[in-house]
Amino acid sequence: MSYHKMWAELGLNLEAHDQLLQVLSQGYQQLFLSQENRPTGMQYLDFVMSEIHGLRIQELVDAQKAGRKVVGSFCVFVPEELILAVDAISVGLCTGAEVGFDLAEQYLPRNTCALIKSSFGFKLGKMCPYIEASDLIVGENTCDGKKKSYEHLKYLVKDLYVMDLPQMKSEAGKALLKAEYLRFMKRLEELTGKTITVKNLKEAIEIVNAKRLSVARLARLRAASPAPISGLDSLLINQIFFNENPQRFTENINILCDELEARIEQGTGVAKPDAPRILVSGCPMAVPNWKLPAIVEQNGAVIVGEELCTGERGARWLTEIKGETLEELIDSLVERYWQIDCAVFTPNTDRLQSIKKMVQEYQADGVLQYNLQFCQPYTIESGLYETELEAAGIPVLNIETDYSQEDMGQLSTRIEAFIERLKQ
Ligand code: SF4
Ligand code: SF4
Repeated sequence: MSYHKMWAELGLNLEAHDQLLQVLSQGYQQLFLSQENRPTGMQYLDFVMSEIHGLRIQELVDAQKAGRKVVGSFCVFVPEELILAVDAISVGLCTGAEVGFDLAEQYLPRNTCALIKSSFGFKLGKMCPYIEASDLIVGENTCDGKKKSYEHLKYLVKDLYVMDLPQMKSEAGKALLKAEYLRFMKRLEELTGKTITVKNLKEAIEIVNAKRLSVARLARLRAASPAPISGLDSLLINQIFFNENPQRFTENINILCDELEARIEQGTGVAKPDAPRILVSGCPMAVPNWKLPAIVEQNGAVIVGEELCTGERGARWLTEIKGETLEELIDSLVERYWQIDCAVFTPNTDRLQSIKKMVQEYQADGVLQYNLQFCQPYTIESGLYETELEAAGIPVLNIETDYSQEDMGQLSTRIEAFIERLKQ
């Protein structure tokens, strides 16, 4: 089916977009479809990926025609529950490819992290149907790069809303988070003409909790040896988490988990039982950023967990449904998001404990800290954590990279050496 008419109406650059899809499809075939012994439940993800700019966008456009709104965001601090409560659709806008960087650098310094540059590149190159389909785009004051870049982005997109976020886990910080969620609620109500009620917020919390429970179930199953699913496929699931219809996602991930349970019982896995097991920790990895897990797994190790926003940091906690008033539900929501241990907070000691806990739970042999070049929060934190983790007997490799393919050889050499170290 051709979606060219829809893409043209969204204002995409058809020629550039076609080229992008071709590269994406080739990359996907090489990295994902060539894996041996994949669970059959991954066919759902293959289909979702093949239609990520097609059928899913068609669904968004159809929903808009029926009066619903699409809200795009860049950060796991933006509560999906509030977006669903007003019957809007939540989509993630972070991107993971080196696209349009020359255009992005007309607005941003060269030494801006690839995650930010990529969002600008996709927008300026007219290659992201999710950005173009969004009725409202939500930015947040997290790192300096993001918050200052929104000062440019507001002139480039239809409607940008910026959420303030605390930097310290203090009582005042928590009060700010609550005030900002209340302000966001109002903005969503204005956008959609709908009111957030106890009933629709409870329903929304249930939907999002179910989605988070499905990926938590998947995460637990990866503790098995041999690992029942690859890190590459698991990362893909954690990425698709942000853009797929939530109920459909939950249903299919639970079906996949049923299959993984059976595989574990039969002792079937994707890696050898003695393959070194690695936990990846650090900056988010957005679609189609699959570089690091691909290198790790092509070198004979297996990734057993992601301490990333496209992983457990984004999905770990549930929102408790307690109380009978809206105020109580908002408090519950604040409690849930307050636990996110992003490196933009100072100090951020909880994150180190999360990493140690994940190492233990998933029986990881070592931690690969993934830092995007020019990302100060995560890179600075990785230095502190390396010392602490090594002192606790957990081997660490710190990687600083970007979205280019130029350092593939060098990364491969370093990762191979790290895997050798883990084997010993
Ligand atoms: S790393 Fe921090 S700023 Fe980035 S998406 Fe996660 S919580 Fe948001
Ligand atoms: S990766 Fe780092 S620098 Fe880039 S947006 Fe996230 S926190 Fe900011």
